[in-house]
Amino acid sequence: MDHLQRSRLNLLTSHMLDRGALLRLDPAVIAERAADERARFIGIHHLRIAVDETDLQCPAWLTPGEAKDRFGRCEPCVYLGEEDNTPYFALLLDHELAKTAEGFSGLRALAREVNDAQATLLSYAQAMAAWHHRYRFCGRCGSATIMDQGGHVRVCGETQCGETHYPRTDPAIIVLVERDERALFGRKPEWPSHRYSTIAGFVEPGESAEQAVVREVAEETGIDVTAVRYHSSQPWPFPGSLMLGYHAEAGSDHISLNDRELDDALWLDREEIVTRIDQGLFVPPPSISISFRLIEDWFDREAPFTLRQLCQNNGVAEF
Ligand SMILES: [Zn+2]
Repeated sequence: MDHLQRSRLNLLTSHMLDRGALLRLDPAVIAERAADERARFIGIHHLRIAVDETDLQCPAWLTPGEAKDRFGRCEPCVYLGEEDNTPYFALLLDHELAKTAEGFSGLRALAREVNDAQATLLSYAQAMAAWHHRYRFCGRCGSATIMDQGGHVRVCGETQCGETHYPRTDPAIIVLVERDERALFGRKPEWPSHRYSTIAGFVEPGESAEQAVVREVAEETGIDVTAVRYHSSQPWPFPGSLMLGYHAEAGSDHISLNDRELDDALWLDREEIVTRIDQGLFVPPPSISISFRLIEDWFDREAPFTLRQLCQNNGVAEF
């Protein structure tokens, strides 16, 4: 399987949206699309998505008229692109509603209720809204910034400065490390009980993604990585990461929690995972995450049943 095919199997990566990068340069075209009754608005409020008022499990795909009725306006909005003659917009609602406003739900919950293409669109909308919220002021001179190009840039309002700010994506690595028949898992103290996942961390300036894999694994677990293979990637809009997934091999197996970011790390083979899931002592990461995919691709290689079957049969929560 090539990297493009494998990446498409990750949730939040599957839409066929035409992002219309050239259209964004013409404000009149964007305004026309935003007024089109075929347009759909995704309301975003502090990393939560507006849901249907009669079905809280369903995101609200609002027409311009519905957006005005519910929120009093259709802007500021970000042009996300077009699919099947439907223009999609993210409607930014952070400023005037109370943080606890009702009628919104988290992407993690909604992603399980909608198809992959819709989950991807919601993820894109959320990532753009989060960026706008964090870049209201110029990082160079501190003046207020102004949205432009259909919401895909923010320009400093101070003419002496005029800095252009582009949407940020922060690369992070995530890696399943294996040695012989075992894989390396870690858990953070703030996670739910018995949740274990693969090792992850942000790529630092001046560092390649592969170097970040080696460094993060050594910092968090003391394990020496000897080989790194790219797997696939996944946007992770909490608030703006791009997860670069890897499989890696370890040259050592003595664990040392060097930077104390994890409160536990351990090696498990497939049989131990089966036993622990059965006993409720191992909860894998949510199935929407690339970490689950990394574990699954390793586990399924040599198990008599798949990790998904194992989780379903044991009623693993949040699977
Ligand atoms: Zn500025």
